[in-house]
Amino acid sequence: MRLSIIAPCYNEADNIAELRRQLVDVARRLTTDPEYALDDVEFVFVDDGSRDATLDRLKAWAGEDSRVHVVALSRNFGHQAALSAGIDHATGDAVVVMDADLQHPPELILEFVRKWRAGYDLVYAYREGVKPRFGYRLINTLMKIHVPAEAADFRLMARPMVNAFRRMPEHARFIRGMMSWLGFRQIGVGYTDRDRFAGERAFTVRQTAQMALNAVLSFSNLPLRVASLAGLLTILCGCCYAAFILYHYLFGDASKIQPGWTALIMTVLVLGGVQLLCLGIIAEYIGRIFEEVKQRPLYVVRELIGKPRDDSPGE
Ligand code: UDP
Ligand code: MG
Repeated sequence: MRLSIIAPCYNEADNIAELRRQLVDVARRLTTDPEYALDDVEFVFVDDGSRDATLDRLKAWAGEDSRVHVVALSRNFGHQAALSAGIDHATGDAVVVMDADLQHPPELILEFVRKWRAGYDLVYAYREGVKPRFGYRLINTLMKIHVPAEAADFRLMARPMVNAFRRMPEHARFIRGMMSWLGFRQIGVGYTDRDRFAGERAFTVRQTAQMALNAVLSFSNLPLRVASLAGLLTILCGCCYAAFILYHYLFGDASKIQPGWTALIMTVLVLGGVQLLCLGIIAEYIGRIFEEVKQRPLYVVRELIGKPRDDSPGE
């Protein structure tokens, strides 16, 4: 049995040495301890267009260790695309994905492997002692999927699940949600998040917002329904108001219908607002359809070091 350990790296130069120390140790235990009895461990690092010495350090490591493979992307494609690149290039019977900044404790991989050996297809890590963020509760309530609260992008996937995942070509990726959609036998393992070993968080507010939007729009049509609902409600209000006017017109008290300016302007504004809102929501979905029909590859590989398997889609 062979295990692949994948980490996307974006400007992680100062973390590589420590990551190497810890991963090499975990790999040694996995292959020598009879409890795990793995034949082989490989490492697949994806350099996501880093601007620092990350790629050089990874190359140096690959030069000294034949288990190390590096997929260098042509530019920064973002965490979720880099993860997918790693998964496409992994050959193991199970695949572990983790961050390169040591926030995900490598020794947890031992527990992952134990659970995998016990028959689970997906073992995911979740941060213990953290209250589920509002975003996750919202996703779970509104979407048709269940994303475990505070699940991290730190997990082990067995080969059948990896293959199923690789058949999901969508661009707007919310991998945690996709995992949940896939099903299989899943189990969580708790851990406490640590601080980054070195370097700074690479995610911008924009990327985080984008991910939240992906989660909502890729997994539900609810926003589309909200649009129709808002439209319906507005029509209802309009009808009630019309009935009110008609009633007073027919049965006297015309003063009530008098200078209709305020009502008129209000109606125009509300209706205009609702229409714009609905248009906006529909435009979001159309934008996504456009993104997907272009069928561009998720990422572009510039260089493969240490010859990882190369059958990524579209190449
Ligand atoms: N990462 C990446 N591309 C990016 C941003 C981040 O490959 O555009 C990698 C990064 O090197 C790290 C992981 O994704 O290994 C998680 O990133 P980060 O630590 O910045 O996010 P956080 O842990 O704060 O969510
Ligand atoms: Mg991090």
